[in-house]
Amino acid sequence: APEAPESFDTQALQQLDSAHFLHPFTDHAALRERGARVIVRGDGIYLWDSEGKKIIDGMAGLWCVNAGYGRASIADAVHAQMLQLPFYNSFFNTTNVPAVKLAALLAGLAPQNGPNAFQHVFFTGSGSEANDTIVRMVRRYWQLAGQPERQVIISRRNAYHGSTLAGASLGGMPGMHAQGGLPIPGIDHIGQPNYAEGGRGMSEAQFGLLAAGWLEAKILELGPENVAAFIGEPVQGAGGVIIPPSTYWPEVQRICDKYDILLVSDEVICGFGRLGTWFGCELMGFTPDLIAFAKGVTSGYVPLGGVLVGGRVAHQLIEKGGDFNHGFTYSGHPSACAAALENIRILQAERLVERVALETGPHLKARFASLVAHPLVGHAETCGLAAGLNLVRRKGATVHDCEPFDSAHAVGMLCRKHMFDNGVIMRAVGDRMIVAPPLSITTTQIDEMVERIQYCLDLTL
Ligand code: PLP
Repeated sequence: APEAPESFDTQALQQLDSAHFLHPFTDHAALRERGARVIVRGDGIYLWDSEGKKIIDGMAGLWCVNAGYGRASIADAVHAQMLQLPFYNSFFNTTNVPAVKLAALLAGLAPQNGPNAFQHVFFTGSGSEANDTIVRMVRRYWQLAGQPERQVIISRRNAYHGSTLAGASLGGMPGMHAQGGLPIPGIDHIGQPNYAEGGRGMSEAQFGLLAAGWLEAKILELGPENVAAFIGEPVQGAGGVIIPPSTYWPEVQRICDKYDILLVSDEVICGFGRLGTWFGCELMGFTPDLIAFAKGVTSGYVPLGGVLVGGRVAHQLIEKGGDFNHGFTYSGHPSACAAALENIRILQAERLVERVALETGPHLKARFASLVAHPLVGHAETCGLAAGLNLVRRKGATVHDCEPFDSAHAVGMLCRKHMFDNGVIMRAVGDRMIVAPPLSITTTQIDEMVERIQYCLDLTL
């Protein structure tokens, strides 16, 4: 295929863009000066912009294009479904074929969970809606369980759980909370298990237990009888690929069990193979009551999200709950579910999740570890195909002895700009540079990506 199959009037598109299009999380006055980059095509791990420039997409879109770009069979499946039945709602005693098939498939793919098995799925249009659904569901659960005073959901600072009112409230992003009205009542936060930030003077294992202990302290402060649930991402994504010590999640689970608190895993990023397991909780060693998913379920080809509901909650909702007064027009959207069915078939047929565990993930880990030799890189962490590296002013013997830049934001932005200009997309979270490429990436392509990253680190020096 030609690399720039069509020609585009970039300037005209940029002018229309800044005249009419309000983008998410964007400073529009600054964007007007710069002009948005117009992305016009994708294939595998590569994107092309309107100037014909080829870019490695180190972020899989927004952590979602797990199967890679250019999958004609997903387009074909959606096309066929749209001709057959593009949309019908699943509200008033109706259902549709792709949604039924996908619900059953997901029940089979979900982590093993003993008597609390994930046999039911509630579909949404996005990850934010999945987490809103979880807020409604856990509160309804405790009403039905005869403990309606259990209302508070505990989350973590620097977590990202979406951008709706409930999602942004569950999230712990200071920039979002600072813009007013957040968090909504009944949501509280504890610290994140970030060893580099809080673990000075102790082993990672000790720090994992300490950070999980913050949950117990918060439960006791609020009164266990008031606490409904704890929610966390197995590995914090938007917060900077913060990989918790292996002691963290099992201890969180023990604490939730001790106080009879529902445990929720937000798998919007970690689900569908990102960490080399179908769901991140499997790698991190815990079994939640509810799982939020989105992104990778369709590889982002069509918006879709949902909640996997374990037996404990499902039983109350179904057997005792009557109407659950919650749902979306697009819950169980047939065309989106058709995309998911074909996407999951691809992930399985090409064994992409296993490849992350056995081949591409270990290769990325080795290559990122080698980047620590660079004078600008203090430390690097990798989990499956999610990785982060910290830019530091002076390197130290341990993660705690590195000297940070005065402006973490400025160095991250500079490095990101060099990456952007030199054909590789990485994200900057302060001074932490992160990647999460499509799971279809090959080891040779990882080498190509890391070489470009190295070149851009040199430019940032
Ligand atoms: N949860 C996590 C862990 C996420 O990373 C995101 C998005 O990045 C969301 C929820 C929100 O998903 P969406 O943007 O589809 O609403």
